[in-house]
Amino acid sequence: MKITEEIIQAELSRCLAKARKAFLEAHWAHPFSKLTVEMLATKYGEASRDGTIKISSAFLNTPALAQLTNTLLHEMAHLIVGLEQGHNMQFRHALGMLLESESLPSEALKQSIKNNTPYKYRLLAYTSAGEVLDLGGAYRRTKRYLQYKGNHSFKGARIMKYEYIAFSCSVPENLIRDESLSK
Ligand SMILES: [Zn+2]
Repeated sequence: MKITEEIIQAELSRCLAKARKAFLEAHWAHPFSKLTVEMLATKYGEASRDGTIKISSAFLNTPALAQLTNTLLHEMAHLIVGLEQGHNMQFRHALGMLLESESLPSEALKQSIKNNTPYKYRLLAYTSAGEVLDLGGAYRRTKRYLQYKGNHSFKGARIMKYEYIAFSCSVPENLIRDESLSK
């Protein structure tokens, strides 16, 4: 099999689904925006702050699918932790989780994420129904929640406020975790 533009797009979709499952996209440092395939002199791929992933056109007409997958996941890990992190520990941890998910069954993956997550914060949401929602771990605090406009709701109840707490903190007792929250 030879790599085509179609195959690159299909592989992008597959890898994106994986990355979005492992890391809630609202918390990505640079949310994905688009993919381009172009001549890159010395690299397989490149990620930018505007969420663009560039893939080298040198992949076209080669059978190097595994390398393409690794490159896509590598660039997604840059978008997740932030380009300013370079290839530091945080980057390698995120990439490790994406690469690991290539072979592990999903239950084992979930467990490994749970056991192994160096998140700094946890995002909570307080609803007008008096509920507290756990929106999961975050590497950084984002404006979207710090400067919340009051326009979100959950199952008919308005979200009154968001709060970041330290990830290592114990969580409130009446906490709700809902699979649909991470969509
Ligand atoms: Zn890199």
